[in-house]
Amino acid sequence: MLYRTVPKTGDTLSILGFGCMRYPSKGRGIDEERTIRQIRYAIDHGVNYFDTAPVYHMGRSEPILAKALSGGYREKVKIATKLPHWLAYERDDLDRILNDQLAALETDHIDYYLIHNLSRGSFEKLQDMGMSEFLDAAKKDGRIRNAGFSFHSNLQAFKEIVDGYGWDFCQIQYNYLDETSQAGTEGLQYAASKGLAVIIMEPLRGGNLAGRIPGTVQAIWDKAPTKRSPAEWALRWIWNHPEVTVVLSGMNEESHIDENIRVAAEALPGSLTPEELGIVNAARDEYKRLMKVGCTGCGYCMPCPFGVDIPGCFARYNTRHLFPDDRTIKFHYIMRHGGLEEAKSNAGLCRGCGKCTKACPQHLAIPTLMKEVAKEMDGMIPIVIPVMKGGMWFMNRFARLKRAVFGGNAHA
Ligand code: SF4
Ligand code: SF4
Repeated sequence: MLYRTVPKTGDTLSILGFGCMRYPSKGRGIDEERTIRQIRYAIDHGVNYFDTAPVYHMGRSEPILAKALSGGYREKVKIATKLPHWLAYERDDLDRILNDQLAALETDHIDYYLIHNLSRGSFEKLQDMGMSEFLDAAKKDGRIRNAGFSFHSNLQAFKEIVDGYGWDFCQIQYNYLDETSQAGTEGLQYAASKGLAVIIMEPLRGGNLAGRIPGTVQAIWDKAPTKRSPAEWALRWIWNHPEVTVVLSGMNEESHIDENIRVAAEALPGSLTPEELGIVNAARDEYKRLMKVGCTGCGYCMPCPFGVDIPGCFARYNTRHLFPDDRTIKFHYIMRHGGLEEAKSNAGLCRGCGKCTKACPQHLAIPTLMKEVAKEMDGMIPIVIPVMKGGMWFMNRFARLKRAVFGGNAHA
């Protein structure tokens, strides 16, 4: 196993991190025994970074990780978990949620604590709530060791958030198809230049870059002189970047764990040859050729005066067409653009003003395309968003009621 150093603290983290959002299943639930075996196997083979969150497996991810880390394993690893800020309405909620997580994880400290899925809107809301002071205090009293955030919004918001607090690390989606979407390569380099460790999520785009591969892309891999699986190519491409600290993989098959551990013993920064990088670029270009809208994510069309996140809407629309079997993509579109945490930015907001088309170097007929995106992607927004908001409100009230009745934290 190779390790990379966290710039601000000197911590050494395994370049392969274990993502705890996709434990193996048994029947309708989680196969706990197998999960624990896999986690301990990974630790025995050098993995020392475990990433979980209260929302993973509907609250079961953290306690199962705690079980796996009993018997001396906790001391060998760094735990990363995330604060579900959408459940926080006031400053006290932040402490309550963190204390609940410490109880769920059966630990007195969290090594890497992230604000989950920050966007510009939620960052501003949390700053008003006292987030900086909360993180400072939690670091000072030892409940957390490093403060960070995970992110899926756009580059400009990413830079503002990086500069908005003294973060130790961040977590971004990054893979060879996402060089110019979300934080992208520029965001990766920006965060690293500010001394942040950068944790990478979705290296295989939720498994899409390793699952059912389009025939023309597979032909590119097949022609490569070095035989590697699509997953290995994708991981090696990310680890080739020196700015990357850890790559998370949601491993739940023993063969995947073994493959990733083997690759993580070799994938030094800058280790891909120009020929090998050319092969990955060819695969990426082929994916882009297969995409429905030729948007490069450059952002020249932004901002839209009516609030449409033009590159974001196109990126998710393209992904939906590229991976039609993946039912989560539409849900992610609704979560991101439907107005759950911040102002709506969905395609249906387009008023056809034409401002964006003048700026687009790809000469895309954006207003017409936005109508197509809205038709296919927007339909469920008026149903899903109010239900989600109601659910969040209810969960928060329930947690408070529990605390009022039992005192202390909600696990009492
Ligand atoms: S045409 Fe639509 S997407 Fe483009 S700037 Fe106008 S409202 Fe926004
Ligand atoms: S300017 Fe064109 S290519 Fe660039 S992000 Fe906007 S729509 Fe996409």
